[in-house]
Amino acid sequence: MKKIVAKFGGSSLADANQIRKVKEILFANDDRKYCVVSASGKRNKDDDKITDLLISLYNYRDDEDKQKKVFESIKSRYIDIVSNLKITYDIESELDKILLESKNKNTKDYLASRGEYLSAKILSLFFDGIFLDMSGLIIFDDNNKVDYELSFKNIKSAIENIEAKSPDKKIIIPGFYGSNSANEIVTFSRGGSDITGAIVARAVEATLYENWTDVSGVMFEDPRVVKDPPNIEYITYTELRELSYMGANVLHEETVYPVSKVGIPINILNTNVPNDKGTMIMSSIPSIVKRRVVTGIAGKKGFTSILLQKTLMNEEVGFVARLLKIFEKEKISVEHCPTGIDTISIIVRTELLKAKENIILDEIKKEMKPDVLNVEDGLSIIAIVGEGMVYHKEITYEIFKCLHEENIGVKMIDLGSSGINVIIGVNDSDYEKTLMALKNLSSIKV
Ligand code: ADP
Ligand code: ASP
Ligand code: MG
Repeated sequence: MKKIVAKFGGSSLADANQIRKVKEILFANDDRKYCVVSASGKRNKDDDKITDLLISLYNYRDDEDKQKKVFESIKSRYIDIVSNLKITYDIESELDKILLESKNKNTKDYLASRGEYLSAKILSLFFDGIFLDMSGLIIFDDNNKVDYELSFKNIKSAIENIEAKSPDKKIIIPGFYGSNSANEIVTFSRGGSDITGAIVARAVEATLYENWTDVSGVMFEDPRVVKDPPNIEYITYTELRELSYMGANVLHEETVYPVSKVGIPINILNTNVPNDKGTMIMSSIPSIVKRRVVTGIAGKKGFTSILLQKTLMNEEVGFVARLLKIFEKEKISVEHCPTGIDTISIIVRTELLKAKENIILDEIKKEMKPDVLNVEDGLSIIAIVGEGMVYHKEITYEIFKCLHEENIGVKMIDLGSSGINVIIGVNDSDYEKTLMALKNLSSIKV
């Protein structure tokens, strides 16, 4: 028997019209029994995401005028959806309850989660589905990390109970949140409804996890930067994780974990063009598929490089370990650390470093006694990812040819130890130009 979990992202729930498309997709296939939803997203480029408005509601809790303005725009969006779908739902008193909670301290996650909660409530009323709250089922520990095994178990038994009574109904699940041992709501990081979808897929032992969004799959590069990048038909979990971690935010990077362990494939699909094939994400790709050498490219701006130079650094046993300890102590994760015989660069996200920069630099001077210590902001990191690169000797030549032709200076290069990625660093001002130059790599076939 096939079992499909269908997760719909914010743009698929942005207004009544989009919600009608969701219903049509769900009812086009009886195997789509489990529906996971995000909060309503943007209706157009300049619109607000409901999650952002709800977070503002919390941030403005001491400023009544500003808060009221945000509240009114949330209210008008929901009144529009509820009246347009012609459902009977007292949305105003539901929203008043949320506003009241915003006055209390420590309700940020609760408020942020209400967009998903309301989406799931609305859908379950719209087509008589069964609403299944994730509070009390997806469990976060004291460090706000999910207890996956417990969550799978809880969801499995809750769904079995529902199906014993109502075998033919669709089950509608709000994404993005669960709760902790004190029964408080805890959210994932932004974009986290993708993770809920994966947890539900694993809990019900789904045969497929469909992730419905506003693009027809994962593209070779970010379509907001590069015009019409080709679509990726098949990609492995490992490649996808590399790309999403490095900035391809079409899927949250933690999505792969719950499903990859048991090999549930993920299919990225487009709610607005439901017949497009989209992208299949799986553990290994069928050998008949003709793949590209480079599967995809993703990147991010906003990194800082901290360069240390010290004569005979290589003879000081434990130098790197002591240096990394300084970053660990300040809870700053290190993205890369290219080394030379007497030099090492530590590359970190600028936004994480800034608040602690002086402490870290003082500590480095005191502990490591470098001859030179240099800090350089404005670095972009770009990952070129593909399992086929290991077998294609010319790949580094091809990469540097693309960059050379556009006169782009490379500030850093790191050949990932897995062999499936090449990481390059360029100036932030060259970020877009670099992605455009690398588009040519999509034409190299295995
Ligand atoms: P949803 O709200 O459905 O979860 P997201 O906004 O999280 O959707 O993800 C879809 C968006 O991801 C696309 O609209 C696109 O702008 C962006 N994106 C970034 N990189 C890529 C990529 N490589 N392929 C496809 N989309 C990408
Ligand atoms: N609504 C949340 C966000 O905007 C979660 C999600 O959409 O996946 O980040
Ligand atoms: Mg998303």
